[in-house]
Formats: sequence, C-alpha cells, structure tokens
Amino acid sequence: MQQPDLSVIRDDVRAMSAYAVPDATGLIKLDAMENPFGLPHELAQTLGAHLASVCFNRYPPSNPSAFKSRLAGHMGVPGPSHLLLGNGSDELIHLICQACARPGATVLAPWPSFSMYEVLARLNQCRFVGVPLKPDFQLDGDALLAAIAEHRPAVTFVAYPNNPTGSLFDRQLLAQAIEAAAPGLVVIDEAYLPYARDTWMPQLGEFPNLAVLRTVSKLGLAGLRLGYLAAHPAWVGEFDKVRPPYNINALTLAATNFLLEYLEVFDAQADVLRAQRSCVLGALRTLPGVTAFDSAANFILFRVQQADAVFEALRLRGVLIKNLSAAHPLLKNCLRATIGTRDENLSFLKALESSLAAQENP
Ligand SMILES: *Cc1c(COP(=O)(O)O)cnc(C)c1O
Repeated sequence: MQQPDLSVIRDDVRAMSAYAVPDATGLIKLDAMENPFGLPHELAQTLGAHLASVCFNRYPPSNPSAFKSRLAGHMGVPGPSHLLLGNGSDELIHLICQACARPGATVLAPWPSFSMYEVLARLNQCRFVGVPLKPDFQLDGDALLAAIAEHRPAVTFVAYPNNPTGSLFDRQLLAQAIEAAAPGLVVIDEAYLPYARDTWMPQLGEFPNLAVLRTVSKLGLAGLRLGYLAAHPAWVGEFDKVRPPYNINALTLAATNFLLEYLEVFDAQADVLRAQRSCVLGALRTLPGVTAFDSAANFILFRVQQADAVFEALRLRGVLIKNLSAAHPLLKNCLRATIGTRDENLSFLKALESSLAAQENP
C-alpha cells in the first residue's frame, strides 16, 4: 500500500502520541482507579433483562430529560437544567475547552493533576498553565492567585481530590481562587466523590463561575462512559451547542437509569475500599524507604528510592500499578496504586515488599 502524505494533519497532532493504555493481561490491575468488585450477579442478571428492551434501531434521545431529572435527584444537582451529560467526563472537559477558550486563551490547573486537562486544552489550541503544587501536594495559594491574576484563565480545572496525588485541597483557598478567576469558569472535578464524600455542589449558587464535574467511572461503572457537568443553566446552554447530538448511547442511558435505584450497592463497595485504603496506607508506612501520601481517593501515591526499578519488579511479580516518576519533577520516584480487593491489596503489598528487598540486595 502506498504511504499517504500526512501534511494535512496539524503539526501539533503529528508530534503527539496517542493515550497509552498498558496491557494488563494476566496482571493484578491496580493502575486505573477502577472499582474491583463489578456488579453483584443477581443485579447483573436483572440489568441484562432490562437492557433487552432498549430500541437498538432508534437513536437515543438527544436530550434525555427524564433521565436527567432522575440523575439530578439522586446526585444532589439543583435540577435537570443544570446538567450536561458527556461520554465520560473526558468528553465534557473537551467540550468546555472548545466552548470557553478562544484559540490562545489560557486553561489553568494546579499541577501535577489529571493529564487530560493539558492534552484537551492544547488540542483546542489553548495555552496551558500548570501551577506547581507544594511538595506535600497541597495548593500553593500564593502561586495560584498570582497565576490567576497574571493569566486570567478562561477555564481553571481543579481535581478535588486531586489525581494523581490523592490530596484534597483547602476549601477556603479554593473559594478565594474561584472568586479571583471570575468571570473565568472554574471546574471542580469530583471524579473521586465516592471515596472523598466532600463536594462543591451546594456552592453552585454561591459562585456563578463555578461548575462541578462528575463521572460514574470511579464509582464502579467505568465501562459505561458517563460523565455529568453541573452548572448554572446559562453555562449548560452554551456547552450544549458544541455537544454532539447523540453523545450518550442508548445502552449507557438505560443501564445508568436502571442502576440509579441501586446506588447503595456502589456506596457499600466504596465503604469497603475506603477501609482498605486505610489498611494499605498503614502497611505502606511500615515499609522502609517508602513515603506514602494521604489520599481521599481510591488510590495511594507513594515515593520509593527507585521508582522505575520498583515498577518493573512489581510487574514481574504480576502487579500493574502506575509509574509517575517522569510525569512531573514533583512526582520524581512516585508510584500510584489503585485500591483493589483485600486479596489484591495483600498481593500488591507482598510483591512490593519483595521488590524493595530485591533493590536492597540485587
Ligand atoms: C479518571 C478521571 C476522570 C475521567 O473520567 P471519565 O468519566 O472516565 O472520562 C476525570 N477526572 C479525573 C480527575 C480523573 O481521575
């Protein structure tokens, strides 16, 4: 086959790499903040029967207002007109950048944080400014306010709690930042709400430039791809113009609509994982040469002496986590482990212990 001429592709796109997802076949998968439990068997059966009635020959509703009303009711959103649905919160981040930021405008985020803020800002031809966190991964309030004053960001993304650090930022500082950023939009990303149980949703009425972003992914439904943005209806109306008309597929709508009645199943799973988080954190802190950071999410960031070697040694022992050592200078020698089932966590800790020992006595 003749090689095509790719000169029509944007230079910045040609210089990019695609989002890399490592192969986890045969490994204990603790790299992607998935809930390890899955649906209880009986619930899966009932859901299956329910999905049989989905009309596959029809487009899904473009604006599923009954579903939005139910979602708003269950999730503490002021009302359906405050809601925008996305194919994962990734799509909503993309739509926000597309609609808010004129080419060359600034998207800002405390940094390091969720990589897609930078990727999607740049893809939408925005400048991206990452404001360094303090070495303990808390907000540097002075630096953040100075950066907001200097760059006047169109959009500021704040992951609450933050990924990949697990830190929950100071609310008072954030409130100051939201006021300082106005009229720029501040998006508080609550992807880890099930594990943090701390939300900005009640503050929507207080700050007209605040939006709250959520997803069902980390709750235990990563495969469904459903995110939602809650904001003043005026914001939602603008973002809705750049949304592809049928962005939420019929199966996702039907499954989520059904599962809203069973949220207590997922909350109970999150309770187990929160308890496991304390166990793993305690165990990590007994290991020599390991610094483990507090986390309000379903993962723990920890620092070792040689992250690359420990990461590889863990993989050889059958455990896949995430190596963040090269992602940002503040993350040097840092690894991130998702909280799994009790057995998975014990396997991880055992593998880590022997990986660390192998570093000491090669
Ligand atoms: C995982 C994650 C997301 C992605 O959510 P999807 O709904 O699966 O696209 C968004 N924000 C943060 C901070 C995350 O860690």
